[in-house]
Amino acid sequence: MSGKAKTLICDSCRAQCCRYVATQIDPPVRKRDYDHIRWYLLHKNVFVFIDHDEEWYLEFETSCSALQKSNLCGNYDDRPKICIKHGEGRSMCEFISEQEPHVVRFSTAVDFEAYLDKMGMNWRFKKNGKKRKQEVED
Ligand code: SF4
Ligand code: SF4
Repeated sequence: MSGKAKTLICDSCRAQCCRYVATQIDPPVRKRDYDHIRWYLLHKNVFVFIDHDEEWYLEFETSCSALQKSNLCGNYDDRPKICIKHGEGRSMCEFISEQEPHVVRFSTAVDFEAYLDKMGMNWRFKKNGKKRKQEVED
């Protein structure tokens, strides 16, 4: 990860790993889960991806506030452990890994809906016309 003692490789990647946050989420299995993911993806700079271990992640494209214009870490001596460990193994660094970090990455709700349709998933909630009409009239 970029820092005072960054390597030549870190130098050429412009600190990719300091420009997003990704957190693991449960794989979606119910309509409510699909709906939540559609909601995430309706937001700007939010992505959902599946990695090579079939784990699902929610990703926010946002730069770390400690990242300097030089692509160096402004908090190098006290950076979080996750930063220290990142890139220790080749597969952990998205820049030098030989494989794409994602098997699938969704950037919009429409992408995700198309994926669900392709997988034959029944993700749409039934429209309750009667109830809606009643609610509007009330
Ligand atoms: S993504 Fe990899 S090469 Fe780039 S700064 Fe992070 S650890 Fe270094
Ligand atoms: S603390 Fe430093 S190494 Fe960690 S993400 Fe921020 S800029 Fe990168």
